[in-house]
Amino acid sequence: MSDLAREAKELDASDELAGLRARFVLDDAVYLDGNSLGALPAAVPDRVADVVRRQWGELRIRSWEESGWWTAPERIGDRIAPLVGAAPGQIVVGDSTSVNVFKAVVAAVRLAGEGRDEILVDASTFPTDGYIAESAARLTGRTLRAVTPAEVPAALGPRTAAVLLNHVDYRTGRLHDLPGLTAAVHEAGAYVVWDLCHSAGALPVGLDEHGVDLAVGCTYKYLNGGPGSPAYLYVRHDLQDRFDSPLPGWNSHAEPFGMRPEFEAAHGARRGRVGTPDILSMLALEAALEVWDGVRVEAVRAKSLALTDFFLKCVTAYVPEGRVECVTPLAHAERGSQVALRCPDAGDVMKRLIERGVIGDFRAPDVLRFGFTPLYVGFADVERAARVLAEVLADAAA
Ligand SMILES: *Cc1c(COP(=O)(O)O)cnc(C)c1O
Repeated sequence: MSDLAREAKELDASDELAGLRARFVLDDAVYLDGNSLGALPAAVPDRVADVVRRQWGELRIRSWEESGWWTAPERIGDRIAPLVGAAPGQIVVGDSTSVNVFKAVVAAVRLAGEGRDEILVDASTFPTDGYIAESAARLTGRTLRAVTPAEVPAALGPRTAAVLLNHVDYRTGRLHDLPGLTAAVHEAGAYVVWDLCHSAGALPVGLDEHGVDLAVGCTYKYLNGGPGSPAYLYVRHDLQDRFDSPLPGWNSHAEPFGMRPEFEAAHGARRGRVGTPDILSMLALEAALEVWDGVRVEAVRAKSLALTDFFLKCVTAYVPEGRVECVTPLAHAERGSQVALRCPDAGDVMKRLIERGVIGDFRAPDVLRFGFTPLYVGFADVERAARVLAEVLADAAA
């Protein structure tokens, strides 16, 4: 056994989260794509079967009340809240991240008021956020300016209405300074929208602590909600009464069953809803969130950093120097829960890695992306992934 394999064994033996792996359905592969689609939590299949067979099949319409379908978006929002540092009553689950970005950006512009005519967007953003910010700018008559998160403080001014930022860069895994950037946006009198897709469930976010205005995120990555599971929207408590959704629907009406022609917004998180929620996906997510019972996000963060540190150590030991370039920051304060390695033949390399049971993903044009989900990835997995990577790179070179 190599020194690194022995070290991995010791790290696994002292890992207080190691037992959580049993809460998931996994196989022999090393699954490093939980930042794209989280693994299946073991409680989900039976719950979904019950929702379909009993709640829908037998109770039918009664389930809106008796099975808690109607209140699920707020109830599940409150289950996500502690994972992102939010007090109850501020998060609603539903729609996709893309749709929630739209609601949040337009609402932020409306909060900022007439005098402010510019929206700033993260130039390195996940594409959908950029497309939607552009459309939101056109609809609200504002101009859109793309700047890197580092350029945001200098770009802020009396014209700034809203700023849309990604907490962790999906490609490089860089973690941005949420407290500092939020404070800078507020100093300029503007509103900030954070996209938490690559941070929620992997590291502490501290939405309330840092005074974030609005936030969105998906639930199928580190929250393991399943393919296309509904996203969430956070609206800070003291902004809720002024939150003016561009998609008011009957679900966000103060009196949804009054069937009135005039819209009157509901109070609280429910104001972020639109139409009838996707109950099957929503309740699969609710079952999936049970894997977090008794888990502290701080412990998850500590293990995540240990995993990515150990992966970099193994890659450095196994892979010939210069064959791959790490584009993920080495400083812990700037690292999310993934490692991105650049190499010219990344697409081909990832195909071969997957054939050999190491599942990461490829992001065009030249990035190998490895996501480390501390709930079910261990240190022996990490050592194996780096070892197989080195073998594949050696084969590709031959
Ligand atoms: C994954 C991801 C999305 C996905 O949006 P959907 O509407 O769920 O397709 C959006 N933004 C970021 C930053 C992401 O990482």
